[in-house]
Amino acid sequence: RAKDMGKNNCQFYTREMNATIEEKLVLLEGLRSALDEGQFRLVYQPKVDLHTGRVFGVEALVRWEHPEQGVIGPDRFIPLAEESGIIVALGEWVLRTACAQNRAWQDQGFAPLRISVNVSPRQFEEQLLVQRVQRALADSGLAAQWLELEVTEGVIMRDLQQAVAKMAQVRAMGVSLSIDDFGTGYSSLSALKSFPISTLKIDKSFVRDLGRSMGDEAIASSIIGLAHRLKLRVIAEGVETEQQRSFLRENGCDEMQGYLFSRPLPPEQLAQLLAAPAVKAA
Ligand code: C2E
Ligand code: MG
Ligand code: MG
Ligand code: MG
Repeated sequence: RAKDMGKNNCQFYTREMNATIEEKLVLLEGLRSALDEGQFRLVYQPKVDLHTGRVFGVEALVRWEHPEQGVIGPDRFIPLAEESGIIVALGEWVLRTACAQNRAWQDQGFAPLRISVNVSPRQFEEQLLVQRVQRALADSGLAAQWLELEVTEGVIMRDLQQAVAKMAQVRAMGVSLSIDDFGTGYSSLSALKSFPISTLKIDKSFVRDLGRSMGDEAIASSIIGLAHRLKLRVIAEGVETEQQRSFLRENGCDEMQGYLFSRPLPPEQLAQLLAAPAVKAA
């Protein structure tokens, strides 16, 4: 009996696994043609100065408008794109689209914003990254100072020396760098001081319970202190409540991003937000 049950469990498990693998394969198949089919979109989330309330930048976030499944978020397909190598072409599309969009807003007369683009490990390690960035800037006519790349600690720690050299090349172009999801990765504090970055981004997992968890408050305020001692700016992601915002402001955090101010928006809606009197005046 026990043996039978074991067998059944095993079959059940296998069926479940097949379903997941099949789902992955179906997504992967779709992913291969999605770029050519024009199924990706970028949405843009405002970044706000915590002291002036001014929108100084936006983060570009990719969405996949799947013909059958509707809108799919990046957590479901970026890992697949990364594993399969599709991320290189997708990442280039994101970079070029974000630069062109940012330049278009400038041409429409909005005060210049800095646009942040997420760069995943495989993309960052790619030989041609620096040239791709250079070309995206040249082709869009966007000045380098209005572009920032967000990389995670994981990207950097895979090959520290090479990553630091790559970061230096990006900086030399005039493009900014920030560490995304800071505190969740493996970078050592001694490595941190050698990164040519301008900003640390506090991961939203530490922001969620500000006002409720002394541990998270200690982590958030330590990251803020660390960033400032290293002459870096610090931004908090995932800010959803007034309570979180006041904690961050009182503890000297420079910038924030989150649903409290705005969700990620399609380009037309972002332009509307920028045109609103309250935002302009701030
Ligand atoms: P991330 O770069 O850390 O982006 C922050 C995520 O938090 C975004 O999820 C954003 O929509 C979400 N978020 C913003 N404000 C709030 C809030 O107040 N509360 C909560 N709960 N969430 C908030 P999204 O758009 O689903 O992106 C997930 C991740 O996918 C990103 O995390 C980034 O790592 C990756 N990703 C997104 N776009 C790209 C891309 O173009 N290229 C690459 N390589 N990765 C991307
Ligand atoms: Mg990011
Ligand atoms: Mg993040
Ligand atoms: Mg994240």
